[in-house]
Amino acid sequence: MRPHPVIIVGAGLSGLACAIELQANGIPFLILEASDSPGGRVKTDTLDGFQLDRGFQVYLTAYPEGQRLLDQKALQFGRFSPGAMVRLDAKFHRVMDPWREPFAALSQILSPVGSMTDKLLVARLRAASLAGRPEDLFRKQETSSLKALERYGFSRNMIDRFFRPFFGGIMLDAKLDVSSRMLEYVFRMMASGDTVLPAKGMGAIPTQLASRIDQSAIRYNTSVAAVSSNGVTLNDGVHLDATAVVVATDGTTAHHLLPNQIKPVGGRHSMTLYFAINGKPPVNDPIIILNGNLDLPIQNACLPSLVCPSYAPAGQHLLSATVLGDPAEPDVAIEAQVRTQLGSWLDADTSQWRHLRTYRVHNAHPVTQPATVAEQPVHLDNGVFVCGDHRFMPSIQAALVNGRHAGMAVAAHVG
Ligand SMILES: Cc1cc2nc3c(=O)[nH]c(=O)nc-3n(C[C@H](O)[C@H](O)[C@H](O)COP(=O)(O)OP(=O)(O)OC[C@H]3O[C@@H](n4cnc5c(N)ncnc54)[C@H](O)[C@@H]3O)c2cc1C
Repeated sequence: MRPHPVIIVGAGLSGLACAIELQANGIPFLILEASDSPGGRVKTDTLDGFQLDRGFQVYLTAYPEGQRLLDQKALQFGRFSPGAMVRLDAKFHRVMDPWREPFAALSQILSPVGSMTDKLLVARLRAASLAGRPEDLFRKQETSSLKALERYGFSRNMIDRFFRPFFGGIMLDAKLDVSSRMLEYVFRMMASGDTVLPAKGMGAIPTQLASRIDQSAIRYNTSVAAVSSNGVTLNDGVHLDATAVVVATDGTTAHHLLPNQIKPVGGRHSMTLYFAINGKPPVNDPIIILNGNLDLPIQNACLPSLVCPSYAPAGQHLLSATVLGDPAEPDVAIEAQVRTQLGSWLDADTSQWRHLRTYRVHNAHPVTQPATVAEQPVHLDNGVFVCGDHRFMPSIQAALVNGRHAGMAVAAHVG
């Protein structure tokens, strides 16, 4: 008799990485995915020839698990210029490349503040984050990023004008509550590689992984309502037997499916607004623009079509603006505020821009619980496994590596 497959609940990056590991070990599996396509939180929609990532996000070429799993060349990355343009007190300041050249990088932004100490401290933070192996960072003593930066001795200006918009934007956490381990990890990744977008959008990353899996082993539009060690029950009541079950959903769903084993997971939210611009772009550089004044609403903006021309049809550009949180105002009100803010920043007539779409992404990042960023065990119980970014840290790297680890643990379990 054929053995029951291992059932993987969810075809996000973590579920796909788990499946690839099982496939490599010759273990039969079936992925059940609630939506109609792979990728989970990493998807790209197309609209009138524009590529719209479902919430602005970037890939870092230094991610070790990405290097291991992905054919990065085939993704045809476009690179962001290193550094950022920080909008401060009605002026743009270019921060060149603080993770690779901390001394040169900060001279401009710090000139109004003049803190030589901050420059020395950036070099020290860089050295600390590059020391040892990447995994060593997750064994270091941990506090919030804000406290860590204060302990390093960074000035208030440096924290508010650089770290808060830059790192707070990456972590969707302007308060800098997120773990100091993440701060050092992200700094390390930025120091060791490029920040990029794939030519076909961020969704090309899971599409590439899914293409390596036998398509008959993925069932879309199939939502799992309950999980046990011998199988799953679907929303329509059908029970499917399994040799083992891997819950590879987001943290909130994992808690609903396994309430006794997975603690409730909080979420950080964000909004991304996309605009089509005809003709000449208001900025010429494929660089991220950060709000250094922390006045609402925009946290960061950029033109993805300058990074990868394929993000917009010929003769047009795509502008993305990201707002942190889940503002109470309706989308149209936020859109109006974003137009006004970008109009004044870029000296542009934003009434000519065509609003393409607004994405409100709830639970874009898990708030890792407990407040420790370290990889959590993947094997919960006899035959029940769990993986996903909520088990480690919010990032593509963590979702992939935790998925592979779950696959390895299942392989060891089913022998
Ligand atoms: C707006 C935004 C910006 C981000 N920016 C970055 C960035 O710049 N760099 C970076 O590295 N990371 C970034 N991230 C984080 C990164 O995308 C995530 O950490 C990662 O994609 C999580 O993958 P996952 O597989 O763990 O979970 P998910 O992607 O959530 O996958 C879970 C899957 O499970 C499915 N599912 C859920 N419930 C069920 C059910 N009951 N039955 C069946 N299937 C189910 C879902 O449909 C989904 O496909 C960002 C995320 C967002 C949303």
